[in-house]
Amino acid sequence: MNFRPTRFFWLVATTLLITTVLWAGANQDSLLRASLSPWRALAQLAGLWSTSTAILALLSIVRSSAMEFFFGGLDQAVRLHRKLGLAALLLQGGHVLFMTIFLASRGVSVALALVPEASNVRRLDIVVAYALLLLGALAYGRWLRHEWWLRLHRLIGLLFLAGIVSASTLNGVTQAFEPLRTWVVILFLLGSVAWIYQAFLFRAYGPRFRYQLVTATLRNHDIVDLLMRPTDKRMMYLPGAFVFLRVPGFKGSNRELHPFSISSSPNERELRLSCRRVGDYTEQLATLASLAPNQTRDLDLYGPFGAFTPHHYAPYRRMIWIGAGIGITPFLSMVAFERGNQDFRRIWLYYAARSPEDAVYDQELKDNIARADSLID
Ligand SMILES: Cc1cc2nc3c(=O)[nH]c(=O)nc-3n(C[C@H](O)[C@H](O)[C@H](O)COP(=O)(O)OP(=O)(O)OC[C@H]3O[C@@H](n4cnc5c(N)ncnc54)[C@H](O)[C@@H]3O)c2cc1C
Repeated sequence: MNFRPTRFFWLVATTLLITTVLWAGANQDSLLRASLSPWRALAQLAGLWSTSTAILALLSIVRSSAMEFFFGGLDQAVRLHRKLGLAALLLQGGHVLFMTIFLASRGVSVALALVPEASNVRRLDIVVAYALLLLGALAYGRWLRHEWWLRLHRLIGLLFLAGIVSASTLNGVTQAFEPLRTWVVILFLLGSVAWIYQAFLFRAYGPRFRYQLVTATLRNHDIVDLLMRPTDKRMMYLPGAFVFLRVPGFKGSNRELHPFSISSSPNERELRLSCRRVGDYTEQLATLASLAPNQTRDLDLYGPFGAFTPHHYAPYRRMIWIGAGIGITPFLSMVAFERGNQDFRRIWLYYAARSPEDAVYDQELKDNIARADSLID
């Protein structure tokens, strides 16, 4: 198999390597004398790796193009975030387990690793570890409804940050070695900035474009097209990109921003989102179709984000595109862009819809394919 390391791979590998080298520096005497208990070593490493992966998980979902560079687009970053989050939680569990085994092997009460009140200092890190393991089990075991998971999700980042502070201030390996302490402080600061930006600052300081709704058209019983034009500066984007949509005044618009792929061509000034009704927010979007023609509506678009675009695969001249249901939206943009991109590729587009009535973009696709610069089947 041909393994090509990505930027994400190098980022994770470098972070863990620095953490491990500094941990070895902190334990150099006992490592040289081979007197470090393997259980203690595993407990320390699992704790420090958990910290490192948790910070990377927080950084991965920062909605910024700088972070997209490392994580290969926000859509990909969200997938990596899930893996990093799971790794951080498992390592946290490993830390507790190895610490317990280490204490037991020394004939010391395991309560010191498991009960917050067992030692003379109140161990907030143990409370945090339990809270994280519980939330992790609820989330990854899929026992929570998606809405509840979203609500608790922010708490996980905050808990990790609280856990790092409380674990690092204890008289342990981090405290004992200045370079390791500095590294953990750097990680902590990066994670905190990422968390605060994501939770509080993104709406005000993120890449926001104000658009005005031109038309909202119901394409069938549950798909609505929102066509909008910029009121100030126009968003420049690649075909296949997505944005976060905020409609001021909509219920829940301050709590959560909803992602939608752009379904129009970047060549056009007017930007289109095609949204399928599946829940509270998209139900409200559908009501925009009943606005009177003279009623205007301002919309905020945050973005563009994502790396799901043919531009990222420039050397590949033959491509297979597969879309299903409303998942056709990024391909609508790509195919529309083919009308004038003066590039030639051989593309096979496969599109599945539940019924002919659900294939509402069929004609549009056919029209654009007929005028495309590439050969599309
Ligand atoms: C990158 C990206 C691009 C997208 N592009 C489009 C697009 O072009 N057009 C379009 O119609 N939709 C698109 N979506 C999906 C769209 O964001 C959601 O359908 C919308 O946010 C749902 O909001 P809601 O409040 O209406 O529904 P909700 O009430 O949030 O959800 C409705 C139902 O779906 C479940 N659900 C919602 N999101 C998830 C999830 N992530 N994981 C598991 N279950 C979930 C909920 O539990 C609920 O049962 C895209 C999503 C992403 C991530």
